[in-house]
Amino acid sequence: MSEIIFLGTAGARYVVAKQLRASAGTLIKIEDSYLLLDPGPGTLVYLAKRKIPLQKINTILVSHQHLDHSADLNIMVDAITEGGFKKRGTVFLTESSLKEHILLPYLQPFLYRLEILKPYTFFENPPFKFKTSCELKHTAENYGFLFYLPEGKILGFLTDTAYFEELSEEFKDAQILVINTVRYTPKEGVLHMSIPDIKKLLTKIKPETVILTHFGMTMLKANPFKVAKDLSKELNLNIIAAYDGMKLNIEKEPK
Ligand SMILES: [Zn+2]
Ligand SMILES: [Zn+2]
Repeated sequence: MSEIIFLGTAGARYVVAKQLRASAGTLIKIEDSYLLLDPGPGTLVYLAKRKIPLQKINTILVSHQHLDHSADLNIMVDAITEGGFKKRGTVFLTESSLKEHILLPYLQPFLYRLEILKPYTFFENPPFKFKTSCELKHTAENYGFLFYLPEGKILGFLTDTAYFEELSEEFKDAQILVINTVRYTPKEGVLHMSIPDIKKLLTKIKPETVILTHFGMTMLKANPFKVAKDLSKELNLNIIAAYDGMKLNIEKEPK
């Protein structure tokens, strides 16, 4: 059975800086392998706390270069390759992240593979298979993802972005949809999703399960659990607010 593990659920700068929520990334476990998405600050610490065997992380995926998504990338590469002693792991990142040197050049040859993310592209690193979305509307080159799980389900990951019309088309196939929900209310010029944006999106698409994560201060103040509960009632959908360490088991699609 596949599993999603939210090591951290912090979003915006203040929540990350104060560690009001952990800013470690998210793990997807298929069979006996892990994919690590967006290793923000503290990822290495939380992997140790949760006793995740580092040699089982065969894929690291970085949606964009912002520090809350990439700060622990270098130490993760060093850790999983045992300082280059073992050629291991595949890292997927954007071209602009690579240009900003979020991955130190001396570590790159330690990796088994380094891949550049492009829009609407299918990538595979067994047992993981995923497709990128269009480029999202954020302050850095950034993509969302659709992961194809062995249970026959599609897990959508809507990373940092402002709302735009086409999001519904991009994520319509996801049965499980994770949404980075930085803002409770929208704020002019801030390229992040807020609750009214999520309502707009979820009137057009109806995933079986929606998980809100990556919370900024306005979301924490509003109480993500209450927000998710009210939203579930209003939209008649199963909407969950993630918490640090939350695990979600993926059930098989009924035949
Ligand atoms: Zn972020
Ligand atoms: Zn960002």
